[in-house]
Amino acid sequence: MRQKVIFGNWKMNGTQVEVKTFLKKVDKAIKKSDVIAGLGLPFTALASGIKHAKNVMIAAENVYFEKNGAFTGEVSIEMLQEIGVKYVIIGHSERREMFNETDKNVNLKAKALLANQMLPIICCGETLETKEAGKTVTFVNAQIKAAYKDINKEDALNTIIAYEPIWAIGTGKTATAKDAQEVCKAIRDNLAKIYDKKTADKMIIQYGGSVKPNNIKELMSQKDIDGALVGGASLVADDFIALINYK
Ligand code: PGA
Repeated sequence: MRQKVIFGNWKMNGTQVEVKTFLKKVDKAIKKSDVIAGLGLPFTALASGIKHAKNVMIAAENVYFEKNGAFTGEVSIEMLQEIGVKYVIIGHSERREMFNETDKNVNLKAKALLANQMLPIICCGETLETKEAGKTVTFVNAQIKAAYKDINKEDALNTIIAYEPIWAIGTGKTATAKDAQEVCKAIRDNLAKIYDKKTADKMIIQYGGSVKPNNIKELMSQKDIDGALVGGASLVADDFIALINYK
C-alpha cells in the first residue's frame, strides 16, 4: 500500500495573511486519515505557511540548485531549510514553458534537494500536440529518465512524481481516469526499468490537471495514481478540504 499524497499548488497566488486565514480553516477540517496533505506556496508566503500549518505540509514551488552566489532573484535550498521547508515542487510545466526550465535543470535541482534531505515533487507531462501525435508515453518517460539521471534508488524513494498533462492544467479538461492511469502505469513501468520493480512499486505518482472535488475519487481509485497535485481548486478552502477528505 502506497502513501496517498494530495498537494495544492497555489502558483503565484496568496499573501501571508491569506495563507494564515486559509490554514486556520483548513487544518481543523482535515479528517485524520492516511492521506498526507500539502500546499505549494510562493516564496513570500512560505514562512506564514510553516508557522500556521498543523496538518498540512508546506512546499516551495521552485528552488535553485547552486548553493549560493551571483544568481539574482533565485532562492537556495539553505534559505528554504532555514524557514523549515522540506518539500519542493520542481519542473512544473509553467516553469518549463515560461521560464525555460530544462530537463537538465530539473535533474540538478532534484539531486541538490536529495543531497540536503529535502523531498522533490518532480513534475512531468505532455503538450496537447504531443498527445495528439500519440507520443505521450515516449515523451513523459524521456522527462522521467532525464530527471532521475544519477539518482540512486534509495534517493528515488524520497521523491514524488506528479504527472500533469499540460492540456489539462487550468483548462477544466481533466484526463479521464483511465487515460491518467495508463500514463501513470507507463511511468511506473519505466521506473521499474530504471531501478527495479520493487522500487517502482513503492514510488508515489500523483496526477494533476483540473483535479476537483467531483473527480478526485475516481482518479484516486486508479491503481497507479497515489495522489494529486491541484492548482485552481486548492485555492478555495472548502474545495481543498473536500479534496483532502475525498474518502
Ligand atoms: P489545475 O493546476 O488543477 O488548476 O489544473 C494543476 C497544476 O498546475 O498543478
